[in-house]
Amino acid sequence: MELLRIGVSRNFRIYLNHSRQMHLLKDKAFVNNEWVSARSNAVFPVLNPADDSVITNVPDMDASDAKNAIQVAADTFKTWQDVTAKERSIILRRWYDLCEQNKDSLAEIITAESGKPLSEAAGEVTYGSSFLSWFSECARHLNGEVIPSPWPNKQIILTRQPLGVVSIITPWNFPFAMITRKVGALMAAGCTCVIKPSEDTPLTALAAVELAEKAGVPKGVINVVTCSRKNAPAVGSVLCEDNHVKCISFTGSTVVGKILYQQAAKGIKRVSLELGGNAPFIVFPSADIQNAVEQAMLAKFRNNGQACVGANRFFIHEDVYDKFIALFKEHISKGCVLGRGNQKGVSCGPLINNEQAKKVSGLVDDAVKKGARKIMGGEFDTTLGNKFYKSTILTDVTPEMNIFREEIFGPVAQIFKIKSEEEVVKLANDTNGGLAAYVFTKDLGQAFRMSRKLEFGMVAINDGILSTAEAAFGGIKESGIGREGSLHGAQEYTDIKYTLMSALDK
Ligand code: NAP
Repeated sequence: MELLRIGVSRNFRIYLNHSRQMHLLKDKAFVNNEWVSARSNAVFPVLNPADDSVITNVPDMDASDAKNAIQVAADTFKTWQDVTAKERSIILRRWYDLCEQNKDSLAEIITAESGKPLSEAAGEVTYGSSFLSWFSECARHLNGEVIPSPWPNKQIILTRQPLGVVSIITPWNFPFAMITRKVGALMAAGCTCVIKPSEDTPLTALAAVELAEKAGVPKGVINVVTCSRKNAPAVGSVLCEDNHVKCISFTGSTVVGKILYQQAAKGIKRVSLELGGNAPFIVFPSADIQNAVEQAMLAKFRNNGQACVGANRFFIHEDVYDKFIALFKEHISKGCVLGRGNQKGVSCGPLINNEQAKKVSGLVDDAVKKGARKIMGGEFDTTLGNKFYKSTILTDVTPEMNIFREEIFGPVAQIFKIKSEEEVVKLANDTNGGLAAYVFTKDLGQAFRMSRKLEFGMVAINDGILSTAEAAFGGIKESGIGREGSLHGAQEYTDIKYTLMSALDK
């Protein structure tokens, strides 16, 4: 059995005894299709956020380990780039099939290390796997162009070439999908990669690549370097600055995105940055209020508010304000069940770590101190643990409060009463974030106007969920650069090469 071959730690064995589904749990990093330790042999513990128990220890790699993994990816690129698009497509499809077949096991690992409810974890596997299936199809459609030339004896040909080695740095909130959305795309394009997952959620990444290996992904195409938060800056610098690396694909906070952007600039490297949001959720009088509230539940409380596209600021028209709040409260009371993610009936898990718990409660406390009104929640349920924050509604919030500008990343809905379309466009756009926006209206003209005027990369009209592999996901302003998903997502990992065929008359 694979687990026995690689050796298992004490914690690891304890966890295995507790679970039948954890056969994908790994306690080593993955380089050149080998399960490896850090060169220093250092490890760090991966914690279950529900109770801070140790799931297992994984290698705490450093800059030298990262350099080694990049070298492997660079060597592999020399051969992988020549594997046909058809073959890459078949491998991606096999990986998709294996992820679907192992959905329960992947979901259990996601829940153990991220805290989200099992049903949401399974949903993430479905969503994340869909990128592998989608990019399996895209691999064979990364076409070039033949352009009519201005010269009679010459032909202009544009082809798409893979960039080379891509460094991937991912967050903890969607530990599976944030990896497949990138790796599916870059493999379709013919690139290789080194992934650095978050300290909080390396186990999902390792489980995913275990399945990639089984699917036949050749050695060295995907490498995973695990490291603690302490080592992240040093590992990150190597991933951004090593000469072999041609692109940095990062999903995470805007603060870290800016650091990596600067490091990438030194080598004029391609960047793909999927950063934080500050999404407005706008409800006009013509909206179907029942639908708006149902969608608000998804847009706000999916992953307990820890989503980049999560609704951060609710702007409700005065004509429907009271009705919306009454119905929203009712839905939250029934729909938000706080508890451990692996317990039946739970819909909201713990916040990921102490820092995040402190941030969310701090934003609420600051707002209340400055005059906001707590309609419900606004505190931890300490009977469950120290990171279980109750679903919260705040009203009477003003733009002077920290919560208006900061990404909450927690189960807190701040609600503003608005009077007009003009006013809400101004308020909604009053942020450096520009990822997603939600608008509820039955007025067609208003829907189109809002889509045009809102300064966000994505606008959902009458819906609370917009992510799908087929669409181009991404932000503007400080929410990022580049798009993931859709054919554009794969094109991000290619360079256009112009070849001039001349002297055709000779
Ligand atoms: P984060 O603190 O920026 O961390 C993201 C990743 O960067 C993690 O792997 C982290 O490692 C690593 N990291 C931190 N500092 C680094 C450094 N100096 N050099 C290299 N790597 C470094 O973000 P997070 O708290 O994990 O995730 C939440 C954020 O991600 C939110 O702002 C959210 O909006 C954003 N997000 C955006 C999207 C999108 O598609 N736009 C999707 C999901 C999440 P450690 O975790 O080990 O510190």
